[in-house]
Amino acid sequence: MTAPVTAKSTGAVSCHVCGLLVSGRYIAEHSADCPRCDAVLHSRKINSLSRTWALLIAAAVLYIPANVYPVLTLVSFGQSTTNTIMGGVIELAQSGQLVIAVIVFVASVFVPIFKIVALLFLVVSVQLRLKIQRRKRALLYRFTEFIGRWSMIDIFMISILIGLVKLQALATVTAGPGAIAFAAVVIITMFAAMAFDPRLIWDDEGERQ
Ligand SMILES: [Zn+2]
Repeated sequence: MTAPVTAKSTGAVSCHVCGLLVSGRYIAEHSADCPRCDAVLHSRKINSLSRTWALLIAAAVLYIPANVYPVLTLVSFGQSTTNTIMGGVIELAQSGQLVIAVIVFVASVFVPIFKIVALLFLVVSVQLRLKIQRRKRALLYRFTEFIGRWSMIDIFMISILIGLVKLQALATVTAGPGAIAFAAVVIITMFAAMAFDPRLIWDDEGERQ
């Protein structure tokens, strides 16, 4: 197999801000700044793998308090009930709200774990210089980026609930420490997906097995 011609293989660099393809000769003769928008040119995202690793580890650590601590505390008529994410899912399912239970489970339990595992797999596969299934890995990356934002549904649900209940005087709802940890997991995994440079999947394409 002959190596495909990429910008990187010819020494050219694509500006990550405006997309202009700058030749290696221009960079050598002039500067490493984009001639069109002045952004610093990088062939690949800087330290992509180590930054993705760091963010994934942080997300995995925060996933524990997100699930162990309550996300909601409801005080009504002097009685307070607290709910963790899974506790809330079970309670919703038991009260017959199956659809909402499934949505909450997918958005807050399944999606974050799937995202962390998928990104870990992508980072490790690039580090091991895996040469198989590049197209499927690229698809996995796009899918991971796409689903991540839907976990925010939960944070919106909590904030809407707090807003609604605050309108009534008899009950109060407050977000628990689990909600903060959960929001952090969602945001950090978004940054992790952004830190990963999917072009790394293709960089050694054409090299012999
Ligand atoms: Zn530019």
